[in-house]
Amino acid sequence: MTEQAEKVDVVVLGMGPGGEEVAGRLAEAGLETVGIEGKLLGGECPYWGCIPSKMMIRAANLLAETRRVPGMAGTSAVKPDWTPVARRIRDEATDDWNDQVAVDRFTGKGGHFVRGWGRLDGPRRVVVGDSAYEARRAVVVAAGAKPWAPPIPGLAELQGRYWTNRDAIEADALPASLAVLGGGAIGVELGQVFARFGTDVSIVEAADRLLSPEEPESSALVAEVLGKEGLHLHTSARLTGVRHEGGAFVLELEGEAPVTAQHLLVCTGRRPDLTSLNVASIGVDDKARGIPVDGHLRVTDGVWAVGDVTGVGPFTHVSMYQAGIAVADILGQDHAPADYRALPHVTFTDPEIGSVGLSEATARAQGLDVRVGTYPIPSSTRGWIHKVGNEGFIKLVEDTGRGVLVGATSAGPTGGEVLSMLTLAIHAEVPVEQLRGMILAYPTFHRAVEAALTDLAS
Ligand SMILES: Cc1cc2nc3c(=O)[nH]c(=O)nc-3n(C[C@H](O)[C@H](O)[C@H](O)COP(=O)(O)OP(=O)(O)OC[C@H]3O[C@@H](n4cnc5c(N)ncnc54)[C@H](O)[C@@H]3O)c2cc1C
Repeated sequence: MTEQAEKVDVVVLGMGPGGEEVAGRLAEAGLETVGIEGKLLGGECPYWGCIPSKMMIRAANLLAETRRVPGMAGTSAVKPDWTPVARRIRDEATDDWNDQVAVDRFTGKGGHFVRGWGRLDGPRRVVVGDSAYEARRAVVVAAGAKPWAPPIPGLAELQGRYWTNRDAIEADALPASLAVLGGGAIGVELGQVFARFGTDVSIVEAADRLLSPEEPESSALVAEVLGKEGLHLHTSARLTGVRHEGGAFVLELEGEAPVTAQHLLVCTGRRPDLTSLNVASIGVDDKARGIPVDGHLRVTDGVWAVGDVTGVGPFTHVSMYQAGIAVADILGQDHAPADYRALPHVTFTDPEIGSVGLSEATARAQGLDVRVGTYPIPSSTRGWIHKVGNEGFIKLVEDTGRGVLVGATSAGPTGGEVLSMLTLAIHAEVPVEQLRGMILAYPTFHRAVEAALTDLAS
């Protein structure tokens, strides 16, 4: 144990979206707050996650729109060029300048910023290099998660050679071909982007469908769209080995021809590194998938955790929601405990897949008396007008016992935006009968919700 520890009110370990929010708000509240960050202040989301990936998606969607021009608004499409995308990401997202702005913002609130990799040293103590901090009020662990790769023969040996999300985001040039390992949200989003720019993309997924936690209808829709766009999809894939030979990655699949590609992007999930954080020193099992927290984000006396490190949901909005609760708890303010019933998330493929709450299968597995209503977007007036690129649907899951929605999916050209009214309905437990009485503007995409509510009744 390091001898002399500096005593402060709060130590925040990891300054991604969750940590930055906690540390900034506690510093603003007048607590002496130290924020520790090993890399860039802001975390994964602004540099290698949500923001740059959505910049890439915005560019790829523009290309897709130009391909929809012939027959709708003209005769020709635009030739793809990756250069402006790479430049925009370099200049506006993965730029050290953003880190300095964030540091200035935090110190401007009265926070004390420390650059370095810290680790817990018992409750209320954090060590960074030769320094140690002891927190009078709280230690908040907000150290996020790292890419995780499955134990496939040959894969570990290729670490550093294959791409993670960071390499894909920082790609200056397009690969001729790309094998994406993992058909979850990140895999399908990035796979569609690269394919739209001209890369020959294969997605290899162990589950029997892409986006396996989503409704089966969402998986089928995304598979259909990606298939039409020329991606090669391998679901239920049993990967027996990976190697790099002759300048290419070779993925050996049981019962199928091998997939060969210039680059391999591994998107098989992210897990916290609890061993490096030394969570054992606060009594937490470092083999766990996340730091267990209660509804107030407390781990143990004097220690809170927020964000991806908790394993609750790998989303920026979860980390910031949890941050708000932890801040209130640390400040001793009245607050409601965390409630994830209406947790939304969006897969930003084109069409977007927005979903909130329980899937039909999960609701049934929980023993709820379930009724389902669906409606295809192309059959709605707005979908029909939109024509090419109108794929999507609304699916509602009702708990008939209580007469409220407990889950919903909104897939379509603006699926993530349409989701907001469904999130509100679930969050506020608005009775389905009351939703039916709403006036929804014509002809919008969200008006398809009305038709799905009608289907619910039939
Ligand atoms: C490609 C991609 C796309 C994504 N898109 C979306 C999206 O569209 N919407 C969405 O909601 N989410 C998205 N996410 C997820 C989102 O980025 C994360 O959920 C979010 O960043 C989690 O925030 P966090 O604060 O918990 O952790 P992080 O953002 O991971 O931040 C943790 C910080 O802690 C630092 N740290 C770790 N260990 C230590 C240590 N020992 N000492 C000091 N510092 C440490 C890390 O360097 C990091 O900066 C995406 C992720 C990826 C990879």
